[in-house]
Amino acid sequence: MRCLAIVLLSLAGVLPAAAETCPGNPDAIGTSRTITVDPAELPRIGTIQYRRTLPLNDHEVVITFDDGPLPPYTNRVLDTLAAHCVKVTYFLVGQMARAYPDTVRRIYNDGHIIGTHSLSHPFTFHTMGEAQIAREVTGGIARVKAALGHPKAVAPFFRIPGLARSGTVESYLADRSLAVWSADEVADDWHRGITAKDIVRLALKRIEAHDHRGVLLLHDIHPATALALPTLLKELKERGYKIVQAVPPGVRPKVLPERPETMVARAGQGWPRLLETKPVTQEIAAKPAKHRKHAARKDRDERLAEKLAKKKSKPQTAEVERGFFSFLQ
Ligand SMILES: [Zn+2]
Repeated sequence: MRCLAIVLLSLAGVLPAAAETCPGNPDAIGTSRTITVDPAELPRIGTIQYRRTLPLNDHEVVITFDDGPLPPYTNRVLDTLAAHCVKVTYFLVGQMARAYPDTVRRIYNDGHIIGTHSLSHPFTFHTMGEAQIAREVTGGIARVKAALGHPKAVAPFFRIPGLARSGTVESYLADRSLAVWSADEVADDWHRGITAKDIVRLALKRIEAHDHRGVLLLHDIHPATALALPTLLKELKERGYKIVQAVPPGVRPKVLPERPETMVARAGQGWPRLLETKPVTQEIAAKPAKHRKHAARKDRDERLAEKLAKKKSKPQTAEVERGFFSFLQ
């Protein structure tokens, strides 16, 4: 009988994964299992707005983060999640992904799932026509895909900014096999002036009131959320909760390579060096002889750009400045 029960639990995918243990942190809550979310079977998720949500067991929580990435808060959140071996689902904004592609890759390579949250995060989805919806949805996916560099790395999960749903948006997403994610609980972490303590209190109170389970919506772009996360995970563990990660069906790459641009920068030959504040002469002296000539030339270029940037009255200056600093964007 017991064997049968284990087989049945295994088939249902509810056996705790081996990943429950977290190397180096015996107090970590870890990630107990994954749950596969197929948009065809579960097109709308979250009881705040819909009738159905993820089929979670008692004391199971799925954590989601919206609006990023935004270093340093996203990085702080990622550090906490890694320290506790917690895997979550992100809903990234296209413009943010374009601005911080390395952070997008870190999110993925840390084992989190990445869905999207529009191109520019307008709060007007509920009033938009289909053309505008299409621009925001496809634009967001395209930017996140570009940051990840792999088409299968983006999950077919979409969360509408401000949860501003409409029949038009939902039909559009359903036609493209994108699951719409609302949530079961929020912690008001986007409110101005909210403290980390309040975020923890609200999250726990609402999860407990909601049958001790649910999809929790947080934002990794706020300092208070980043500060609240370690305590929230600790409290969830102490109260007997388990973290579940929602994943899309199908195969996706396990790890993505570092972006070529980042590798160049790491090698010390890229433009981010321009942002360093130490005296350039010291930098040149520290270089091996074969690199000195190149470094000295770069130093001249920097001084020239600086000089030109000061002469704002001449039209030519603006051109040079724009050309020069476009490398940094
Ligand atoms: Zn948002």
